[in-house]
Amino acid sequence: MTTASDPRPRRTFAVISHPDAGKSTLTEALALHAHVISEAGAVHGKAGRRGTVSDWMEMERARGISITSAALQFDYRDHVVNLVDTPGHSDFSEDTYRVLSAVDSAVMLVDAAKGLEPQTLKLFQVCAHRGIPVITVINKWDRPGLDALELMDEIEKEIGLKPTPLTWPVGQSGDFHGVLDRRSGQFIHFTRTAGGAKRAPERQLSADEAEAVAGEAWAAALEGHELLAMDGADHDQEQFLAGRTTPVLFASALQNFGVAQLLEILLELAPPPSATPAVDGSLRAVDDEFSAFVFKVQSGMDAAHRDRLAYARVCSGVFQRGMVVQHGETGKPFATKYAQAVFGRERTVVETALPGDIVGLVNASALRVGDTIYEGRAVQYPPIASFAPEHFMSVRAADTGRYKQFRRGIEQMDQEGVVQVLRSDLRGDQSPVLAAVGPMQFEVVTARMESEYKAVIKLERLDFQLAMLTDLPGSQVLSGVRGVEVMRRSDGAWLALFPDKWRAHTAARDNPDIFLEALPASG
Ligand code: GDP
Repeated sequence: MTTASDPRPRRTFAVISHPDAGKSTLTEALALHAHVISEAGAVHGKAGRRGTVSDWMEMERARGISITSAALQFDYRDHVVNLVDTPGHSDFSEDTYRVLSAVDSAVMLVDAAKGLEPQTLKLFQVCAHRGIPVITVINKWDRPGLDALELMDEIEKEIGLKPTPLTWPVGQSGDFHGVLDRRSGQFIHFTRTAGGAKRAPERQLSADEAEAVAGEAWAAALEGHELLAMDGADHDQEQFLAGRTTPVLFASALQNFGVAQLLEILLELAPPPSATPAVDGSLRAVDDEFSAFVFKVQSGMDAAHRDRLAYARVCSGVFQRGMVVQHGETGKPFATKYAQAVFGRERTVVETALPGDIVGLVNASALRVGDTIYEGRAVQYPPIASFAPEHFMSVRAADTGRYKQFRRGIEQMDQEGVVQVLRSDLRGDQSPVLAAVGPMQFEVVTARMESEYKAVIKLERLDFQLAMLTDLPGSQVLSGVRGVEVMRRSDGAWLALFPDKWRAHTAARDNPDIFLEALPASG
């Protein structure tokens, strides 16, 4: 039973946001509040900031973005919080989607001045699709931005979630005095700290005191609160868990304000890990025997740890380092001697992990994204959907003398899901096709092939924009259609590549008997 070794409840979540909304700053602030780090700036290394825990590639460092994902685990008020890091670049989204299969809730971070941005919307759609409840944080309230009610309207109109603010700002954006706690009626007054490097003191004041301190801003906040109440915009746990409403908080991650409130809300409202649906439709309860699924595979994190790491989310039971588990896909035993908790470069050995926790399994060359590992009664979790690629490149080794390394590297990129690799007899093994959701995936492949396999690659853009699933007979018919190419993905699926939607449409119309199906869209 899970409760035997560690009774502390888990909260496993990810922060979803458009680049620059403040995800790294918020992550630091959360870690700071939970005393994981002693000073802001230590978690995500960005240009001009200290330390690099989460970023691992030169490219990431140069661009100041986080491409890879890992999990940050910390204790907070007798809970264990797992913050699963998501890549922050709008171009590199496939990985983010996979990460979202490993969490129980998401925090949608919105820049108060920009409102909802394309990447926020895309990610939100994935959450909606997966039934992940979303808590919204309006960030950067310390800076001039949009009107609070306007932002609420935008959320409701653009994403169809009813916002139910838990706090309401006292003071317009840019004039942030604190927030009205809508449930207690108290004023949470905030005082700034230099650079936000320390925990910002927050004072709880009664309504009377609030009026004395914040005057008109307090009156305006009360008015806003009443308007919301009249509109039925109050938190309802059932509606939130069903994905119909989103609790909203106002914050300044940079000033460390609203961060403690977010942690409290996560503990209070975000769902704990629950039974995981298996392929056969059954549910594996959290207190069943151990099981987990791999949502990310990564290698070559840095020179000191040149190995392959599979990140698995524990779904049921207790993971104990050293246990030998079954690998669902191959039926082979898998030894977990080297399990680690990993956040970027920092690695610590994991002894036990419970449902909701993320473990990094070292030397996991057999494990692929979507694989299941378990103990005892067999279970198979559904594969993680791969998204419809929109960019296609043929790839070959620049130096044919390094073809062996090239082949190994491409296989690795494929297994990690850095890109999808497509092959056909026509193109042969020397020159497969790489398919990606975002073009930056190609840059990652190029950089990693060079640094890890010493294999310089040559990419050539192909004139396709769309891939659809087909079957063997379909692939034979479509191979004859002009402008269409049929290729096989490494999971065995046949993909028909089309130059545009129009061509796909006509091919389907002219061949009503062939099977053609859209891949899950990336938004
Ligand atoms: P990310 O790309 O989402 O990880 O965003 P960052 O955390 O790197 O933040 C982007 C920029 O916004 C940085 O310059 C931050 O200092 C700034 N920023 C983040 N949060 C806040 C905030 O609450 N207030 C203000 N004024 N700036 C913020």
